[in-house]
Amino acid sequence: MTEDRLSPLRTIVGSANVLVGPDDTAGYTEDWRKRFNGAALAVVRPGTTAEVADVMRWADETRTPVVPQGGNTGLNGGSVPLGGGEEIVVSLSRLNRVRDLDLAANTVTVEAGCVLATVQRLAADNDRLFPMGLGSDGSCQIGGNLSTNAGGTEVLRFGPMRDLVLGLEVVLPDGAVMNGLHKLRKNNTGYDLKHMFIGAEGTLGIITAAVLKLFPRPRVIATAFCGIADPADALRLFARVNDLCGHRLGAFEIISEGQMALVQRHADLVSPLASRHPWYLLVELSDPDPETPYMTSWSVCWPPPWTMAPSPTR
Ligand SMILES: Cc1cc2nc3c(=O)[nH]c(=O)nc-3n(C[C@H](O)[C@H](O)[C@H](O)COP(=O)(O)OP(=O)(O)OC[C@H]3O[C@@H](n4cnc5c(N)ncnc54)[C@H](O)[C@@H]3O)c2cc1C
Repeated sequence: MTEDRLSPLRTIVGSANVLVGPDDTAGYTEDWRKRFNGAALAVVRPGTTAEVADVMRWADETRTPVVPQGGNTGLNGGSVPLGGGEEIVVSLSRLNRVRDLDLAANTVTVEAGCVLATVQRLAADNDRLFPMGLGSDGSCQIGGNLSTNAGGTEVLRFGPMRDLVLGLEVVLPDGAVMNGLHKLRKNNTGYDLKHMFIGAEGTLGIITAAVLKLFPRPRVIATAFCGIADPADALRLFARVNDLCGHRLGAFEIISEGQMALVQRHADLVSPLASRHPWYLLVELSDPDPETPYMTSWSVCWPPPWTMAPSPTR
């Protein structure tokens, strides 16, 4: 019965790309922290936008619920099927081509299954920066980053994924393809429908490709690790650094003593500070101009106790 039902999917994506049974689907039905565990009718792995569209058309006609899945690093159960085995998982992993790199427009057009670290590397290899960085960047995918409107460590300076995208290609629930892969920054025509799909976690369609913004590569980076008394200190320091350094401020992450202890215990890392503090801050400044007088700015920011370590030029 299930085999009959799934045979159109085998025709669309090839038998090797329709996975059934708990052994083959296990990596797709459980989340990264093993907190959410479900079952799927099948895991389908399309390799082109046209295949995604055909799969969605089939799902629409057969009234089969669909769970899109990227790198499955979302941590909140959104990427795993929890509907009692009636859903199909559409994995975007095979849709991982770079379609276009335009260094004059400073854009890269990638398919949704491209791993974030691949895009970061591609940008760096071309003397550019793609400024999204998360702990999961070696596994999460651009489609997942867009669908969760991921933030990352440079969000203060560059914004979340919503601010890093110029255009999207999306397959709608009935299989229609919305092609909005625009590169133009000054695109002031009509409604900007792409924003409906960013942060929508796959509820309105499947993102299949995106035009992403690239930025100049930083050539000087300064990192500080500070011990502070409480979060109010962090806000005061934030205001001061922001005043002095403005757009050069990228990362500003607060860490509690408890979190620090966990990292030291489980990741075998040593604190860069000799003394212990109730809270810590990790601050990073960067600039494409190697002559930027960082250290002068830094030295007037805040009195001790905190240490400051200039990073090597990247
Ligand atoms: C160590 C670690 C650190 C992290 N740090 C951060 C962080 O700093 N900031 C942050 O925002 N998140 C963070 N996350 C969470 C997670 O990595 C991000 O949310 C990431 O963007 C998810 O991408 P993914 O490809 O794994 O998506 P998945 O987990 O596979 O999917 C996430 C959601 O998007 C939907 N989806 C996936 N692909 C598509 C698509 N192509 N079209 C439509 N819908 C789709 C899924 O159905 C699901 O609802 C972290 C996770 C880990 C494990």
